Amino acid sequence: MPKLLIIGGSDAGISAALRAIEINPGIEVAVVVADRYPNFSICGLPFYLSGEVPDWQTLAHRTADEIKKQGVRLLMETKATGIDPEVKTVTAINKHGQSRLLKYDKLIIGTGAFSTRPTLAGLDLPGVFTLRRMEDGFAIQGYMQEHRPKSAIIIGAGYIGMEMADALTRKGMQVTLIVRSDRILKTLDPEMGEIIRNELECHSVKVIDQLAVSAIEKRGKKLLIRNVQEIPVEGDMVLAATGGRPETTVAGMAGIPTGILGAICVNRGMETNVKDIYAAGDCVETWHRLLKKYTYLPLGTTAHKQGRVAGENAAGGNAEFAGSLGTQVVKIFNIVAARTGLCGRKARESGFDPLTTDQEFWDHKVYYPGATPLRIRITGDRKTHCLLGAQMIGHYRAEISKRIDIFAAAIFNDMTVGSLSQLDLSYTPPLSGPWDPVQMAAQHWVREACK
Ligand SMILES: Cc1cc2nc3c(=O)[nH]c(=O)nc-3n(C[C@H](O)[C@H](O)[C@H](O)COP(=O)(O)OP(=O)(O)OC[C@H]3O[C@@H](n4cnc5c(N)ncnc54)[C@H](O)[C@@H]3O)c2cc1C
Repeated sequence: MPKLLIIGGSDAGISAALRAIEINPGIEVAVVVADRYPNFSICGLPFYLSGEVPDWQTLAHRTADEIKKQGVRLLMETKATGIDPEVKTVTAINKHGQSRLLKYDKLIIGTGAFSTRPTLAGLDLPGVFTLRRMEDGFAIQGYMQEHRPKSAIIIGAGYIGMEMADALTRKGMQVTLIVRSDRILKTLDPEMGEIIRNELECHSVKVIDQLAVSAIEKRGKKLLIRNVQEIPVEGDMVLAATGGRPETTVAGMAGIPTGILGAICVNRGMETNVKDIYAAGDCVETWHRLLKKYTYLPLGTTAHKQGRVAGENAAGGNAEFAGSLGTQVVKIFNIVAARTGLCGRKARESGFDPLTTDQEFWDHKVYYPGATPLRIRITGDRKTHCLLGAQMIGHYRAEISKRIDIFAAAIFNDMTVGSLSQLDLSYTPPLSGPWDPVQMAAQHWVREACK
């Protein structure tokens, strides 16, 4: 029986395991997981911390028992510490410090990412956190229960910073958001970032931008943020949400080459350049479907797909990762912001001749109660009229995520902006119009492009 060993038991690792068994029910699959939480949705942690999801156990995509029932052997609280590709073994150490040698025929690495820790004094102080693993979530929850903080400082305005600003405000805290640049959620254009800033401020989040944090200090019961500008900022807890980097320690030991930001280099079959070793998820470089090159785009959606490809191929298949468009959505208080593809600046840098239009539409017929405005930015190529990207912000009930998915599907299939009008989209007055806002935005883009 061929032996498939997987290092990492989250989105990429478990997707790989389940797909391998589906492709070859005869394969023997074992997953080494450093923690006790295989296949947990870390994407759900902000909603657990906000109290919207009261029980952390429900964050499991599947329970350990369900995974085992599907034929996967789970080695939990076991850390892979080395790979020997010559003899095809992995060294692993369990929580009791016992070391063992695991043999493989095929190996998949899905070790994910770690939170970057800015080089700041004070990051190890009690009350200062990052958020990546389940344990990080438990540490924050424990601190909130024990110390009942009334205020929080979040360093970083990416999507985790946004979700946590919402979550901690829901917990009754006064939240201060510190931004190094002047941009909120940089994956969107600045115009869209300003709408988010407004939403944050409407919910009493204090946004301080262009602030260079130099250290965190304890002052009495408070945590003080030292900054170059000497602006007084203090709070009862701090979350550093400054991004993530690929976790490739064990891959590095096996001599597997890494590239962008230290992510593992893979081909589109998710193979590394070491024989019989595959990798997937936040630890790898990701093929960008539009740019036709590798980039680093760590997302749960991508990790699942890449894991599935790696699992299929390790089990004897011949699958290819189709590529990412960086499609992403985030809910911040009452609004949802979403994006896919390229923004105008990135499109220009990448050799396109982009035109970006920006307009507001009603999400459904105004005569039906509850219509809300929907801001849509479309980027297309002037020469070819190919759709390159879209960004959208509106009320969280305005079906933003599924509307951005229409754009994502269109870009995936190399559609022109104009051809969006021909899509047979659904309509009923409480939910849309005979022309969906996506199509009206596309028609507006075409008019502008033809001027
Ligand atoms: C707070 C938060 C919210 C998010 N929200 C979203 C969202 O809304 N949408 C979205 O698409 N993405 C979201 N993401 C990103 C998404 O969670 C990740 O892209 C996804 O979890 C990556 O999966 P992965 O399997 O590659 O790695 P990870 O989930 O990081 O898992 C890595 C696994 O490897 C194990 N491991 C690591 N090293 C070793 C070792 N040496 N030995 C054994 N095991 C090891 C770990 O224990 C873990 O099981 C969010 C992330 C965070 C932190």
